[in-house]
Amino acid sequence: MSNYKIETKCVQGGYTPKNGEPRQIPIVQSTTFRYETSEDMGKLFDLEASGYFYSRLQNPTCDTVAAKICELEGGSAAMLTSSGQAANFYAIFNIATCGDHVISCSTIYGGTFNLFAVTMKKMGIEFTFVSPDCTDEELHAAFRENTKAVFGETIANPALTVLDIERFARIAHEHGVPMIVDNTFATPVNCRPFEWGADIVTHSTTKYMDGHGAAVGGCIVDSGKFDWLAHKEKFPGLCTPDDSYHGIVYAERFGLEGAFITKATAQLMRDFGSTPAPQSAFLLNLGLESLHVRMERHCANAQAVAEFLEGHEKIAWVNYSGLPSNPYYDLAKKYLPKGSCGVVSFGVRGGRRAAEQMMKHLKLAAIETHVADARTCCLHPASATHRQMNDEELLAAGVSGDLVRLSCGLESAEDLIADLAQALDAV
Ligand SMILES: *Cc1c(COP(=O)(O)O)cnc(C)c1O
Repeated sequence: MSNYKIETKCVQGGYTPKNGEPRQIPIVQSTTFRYETSEDMGKLFDLEASGYFYSRLQNPTCDTVAAKICELEGGSAAMLTSSGQAANFYAIFNIATCGDHVISCSTIYGGTFNLFAVTMKKMGIEFTFVSPDCTDEELHAAFRENTKAVFGETIANPALTVLDIERFARIAHEHGVPMIVDNTFATPVNCRPFEWGADIVTHSTTKYMDGHGAAVGGCIVDSGKFDWLAHKEKFPGLCTPDDSYHGIVYAERFGLEGAFITKATAQLMRDFGSTPAPQSAFLLNLGLESLHVRMERHCANAQAVAEFLEGHEKIAWVNYSGLPSNPYYDLAKKYLPKGSCGVVSFGVRGGRRAAEQMMKHLKLAAIETHVADARTCCLHPASATHRQMNDEELLAAGVSGDLVRLSCGLESAEDLIADLAQALDAV
């Protein structure tokens, strides 16, 4: 599929049925797989042969869908996880352990911030948060001897900052560590971080990839380009023997293309088991088949809504990188030439109370802890997803008290604008 355009890969990537096989991907609803001899099975447990033996580690339906996302991102290997949270946790924990340090953009999803700043900190991994707008010098200064990765979101949820992926990846590489990019909001239809030097891409497939609010899920894709062995001392987990698999060295045995995902599957999936259900992978694939068509409409609706809001007297500010007034307009032109995403954020004059008041009057946009759905939805992050943050952390995350996050769905832009207009009239 590698020579086809992204639209064709969305529809047909990952699965090519042979003569007489099902046209749609089969749902392999089986926890386990049958073998003729114990020797056959033993080889699987030694990672000497590849094959399925237990769906906690790998399942054919999930692998088929992972292969499609791998093609969409232009990667070398990929795995599905049961959620975006699991994807980001695995992506980092696969290369960083107790005593290590990771640099992350401060404008990231609230759940990821909590995972990094609270839960992973308890595990002994320390994070330094830097602004996506930091200077090269500030970013260099954040590195330590024990830094193992740099992390950021292509388009931050909900701050909507656009990451200068090329710059961040270059500096990460100067320090011998990979750049991990959460590409959830942009999707590979609008941006492929590997083309700008990123090494690992993660997704909450719960968002646009699924696109219908049907199944929670995540994905990790490896570019296959980061040379772990060139930085052996930093990545012992990939470059020294794994006792739990008779001394296998992942980077030697599976090469640059396969080491990262094989280790994450063989160790992290085995031990933590954040496995997606085959049924969920099937639903995800249905979403992927129309991703390219839907992204275009999500972006067009968001652009129209953002332009309407920017001209409205009751709106204090609008944040959408498709507006020429936006500080990320130029970065978006570079990284997101086809459009960014369907999410627009804005402040209602009168602050927090006015925002809550306006949201109550919306008829089409439902209040939900969700984005990237076919149906328009909205949220007041300061009282929901970012509730655990103090004022200083909120500010660093780019979330002000009056911020409303509006995720434009696939409805008519005219109807969405009329809905917003009547809700604003009621404030
Ligand atoms: C939603 C989200 C996550 C978490 O994904 P879940 O599927 O909800 O676990 C991670 N990153 C970003 C950018 C998200 O929007």
